[in-house]
Amino acid sequence: MKSQSGMGELIVRLLLVVGAAGLGTSAIAAAPQQTGSSTSSTPLPAAKLPPQDWHPQIIVRVHNYAHVDTELLLGAEAVATSILREAKVEARWVYCPLSQEDDERYPRCPADWGTNAFVLNILTPEMVGRIQTRVENLGSAPAPCDEDATSCPINVFYFRVVQRADQVGIHPGRLLGHVLAHEVGHLLGENHSPKGIMRGTWGRDDLKLMGFSILEFSTDQAAQLRATLLRRAARQEASRNVKLSADR
Ligand SMILES: [Zn+2]
Repeated sequence: MKSQSGMGELIVRLLLVVGAAGLGTSAIAAAPQQTGSSTSSTPLPAAKLPPQDWHPQIIVRVHNYAHVDTELLLGAEAVATSILREAKVEARWVYCPLSQEDDERYPRCPADWGTNAFVLNILTPEMVGRIQTRVENLGSAPAPCDEDATSCPINVFYFRVVQRADQVGIHPGRLLGHVLAHEVGHLLGENHSPKGIMRGTWGRDDLKLMGFSILEFSTDQAAQLRATLLRRAARQEASRNVKLSADR
């Protein structure tokens, strides 16, 4: 992310995030012999639902530490964008520097884009080796992201995505896209559910389906995602108004 010492800070941060997120709720398990969900869905508290025609946007700041091929990454982002769009959430992906020295090459990646902007770290095997993960996990995220936080991270263990995709004979970009959408779901408060994109353990049939179609959020999950984004935006607006009042 920023120089050697900056990278050390990143690793410490990731360690804290994974620990706080809880391995059982934030990561995808997709071992071949497993076919059931490991975690049941727990409804979140009732929230004010946004209008049906309101399509909130999230921004994902991408740090491609694993140097995933650009074309593959764009394909994965397109898959995740489609899944989120089915839930009426628009995703925008912005590429960000891997070190402070690279900052000038990424002028479109400012530090703070608000509470509906998140961070995607695509980690190398070495980086994953420094944090605690179950071997079957493909990614992790805080579950949920604090509603006032501005840079909650999704961590993706890309080499495991490639291995798993190879095992079932699908393109890794298709699986990576589903991992991204699943982890965005966790950031926005979704728990695991018995089927669909938020299933805790994707079975072989789910993985095969990903090869030519998409797993989706349920109608209730989609409404919850948008309600969460509305709430986050409202909290940010209220916070800005308080600051403006204080500055006068
Ligand atoms: Zn999960």
